[in-house]
Amino acid sequence: MKELELERIIITQEEIHKRVAGLGAQITEDYKDKDLFVIGILKGASVFMSDLIREIKTPLEIDFMSLKSYGASTKTSGVVRMLRDLDQDISGRDVLVVEDIVDTGLTLSYLKESLLVRKPASLKICTFLDKPSRRKVELEPDYCGVVIDDVFVVGYGLDYNEKGRELPYIAELKQ
Ligand code: 5GP
Repeated sequence: MKELELERIIITQEEIHKRVAGLGAQITEDYKDKDLFVIGILKGASVFMSDLIREIKTPLEIDFMSLKSYGASTKTSGVVRMLRDLDQDISGRDVLVVEDIVDTGLTLSYLKESLLVRKPASLKICTFLDKPSRRKVELEPDYCGVVIDDVFVVGYGLDYNEKGRELPYIAELKQ
């Protein structure tokens, strides 16, 4: 099996851990008396999500959604299809969507619209990475781990053609 060629590590395992703990503490504070329902977006957010929920010290429930965005492997087309929907009703619940990375913002703005129709009590977005310079629609994550430049990254759940999700750090892919 051919290995992925990496340019450099941009966020180490230790830095990831620190940032996730910080986000968890902030979310714990904000959702202390709320009915927290955390939605992870498969597959990329699965690693971040499992770390994050263990840093949130208030009761919560989880579910997953799977979205497919059409386009070449390193670009988003903006056309999004839902492959897996939630098992549960989110009406009246305090929903926190957990995503691996916000790039153009097209995926999450589509998702936000389709979740708001279901009348949650609140809806916020937590992303581990953000590339604000690539935004095509107005979308500001409520919680963000690290802001990065316009480079394609893999690791910590993020893939290139399904490879690299298991890496414990985030690295820039060699072009
Ligand atoms: P958006 O709709 O915000 O453009 O794209 C979000 C999705 O594009 C992410 O969930 C992710 O699947 C993919 N994506 C965007 N940038 C990167 C990147 O640097 N690395 C990887 N592996 N996926 C990315």
